[in-house]
Amino acid sequence: MDISLVIPLLDEAESLPELAAWIEKVMLENRYSYEVIFVDDGSTDNSWDVIQELRSKNSNIKGIKFQRNYGKSAALYEGFRVAQGEVVITMDADLQDSPDEIPELRKMIIQDRYDLVSGWKKKRYDNTLTKNIPSKLFNAVTRRVSGIKLHDFNCGLKAYRNKVVKSIEVYGEMHRYIPVLAKWAGFKKITEKTVEHRPRKYGVSKFGWRRFVNGFLDLLSLRFVGKFAKRPMHFFGLWGSIFFLIGLGIALYLIISKFIHPTTFALTNRPDFYLALTTLIVGMQLFLAGFIAELVSRNAAGRNFYLIEDKTGL
Ligand code: UDP
Ligand code: MG
Repeated sequence: MDISLVIPLLDEAESLPELAAWIEKVMLENRYSYEVIFVDDGSTDNSWDVIQELRSKNSNIKGIKFQRNYGKSAALYEGFRVAQGEVVITMDADLQDSPDEIPELRKMIIQDRYDLVSGWKKKRYDNTLTKNIPSKLFNAVTRRVSGIKLHDFNCGLKAYRNKVVKSIEVYGEMHRYIPVLAKWAGFKKITEKTVEHRPRKYGVSKFGWRRFVNGFLDLLSLRFVGKFAKRPMHFFGLWGSIFFLIGLGIALYLIISKFIHPTTFALTNRPDFYLALTTLIVGMQLFLAGFIAELVSRNAAGRNFYLIEDKTGL
């Protein structure tokens, strides 16, 4: 199979028929063998009925329906698990991404041998203040932290070599950082392609301002988990020991002073006495946190689990 399209959606019933028709046209023109995997992320409109109907007319269309809304990352994760195509392309369901980009994206994976090609909405049709400016900031920070030179990490339109999507685990709200996950999984050939972006035709955006707060928290945990999840003691143990040794040093100094001047030296009046106490305790706490994290990470199954209500074609 040449291409798997993975399309997460939440309440996008009006857009789906138009999107499916457009995709079919592009696929036929290029004679691709393909599948479209619609992942219904707990829609409350009739999106799932529309998907069923589209499938009855075109058997390349498949669907996964979640029992409730788990988020875009979960939807991508389940779509990635079943995708069979040599090239896997993700796109949003709201017609903001253009299926006309598919042939060029596929070519960049197959001929130019890239592992991941991320779309870049150079000219965006979103509200400037609430989206474009925070998004510039978000991208700049992610570029710095990850060392990957992309302008638009969060673009829904991306193409992958099949092996890439099978090697990464997109959980929480990590869909914003898929290029980072891919890089850490060992895929180095990552690039971007400017893509056409279109205004939303039907429905409303499903992400509010909270995306930015969550985005930055995710970046912190991504950085931390990526570095230390498998070896928490290297972080907590190190800082725990440093604090503990500082505390111990001060305590020893105080004890020796007390022995030298047993009468004039008032131990509990001194600020460094309290410093010694707190650093010793903080050091112990950090060490313990590291130890527990170590036990947890050794036992963690590391598998996401989402309840799927229905499937079609898979
Ligand atoms: N989406 C989803 N689950 C969610 C939120 C969004 O599957 O919990 C889908 C949504 O239906 C769309 C894509 O993710 O296909 C991008 O969402 P949206 O267009 O609302 O984001 P924006 O373009 O405003 O960044
Ligand atoms: Mg959109």
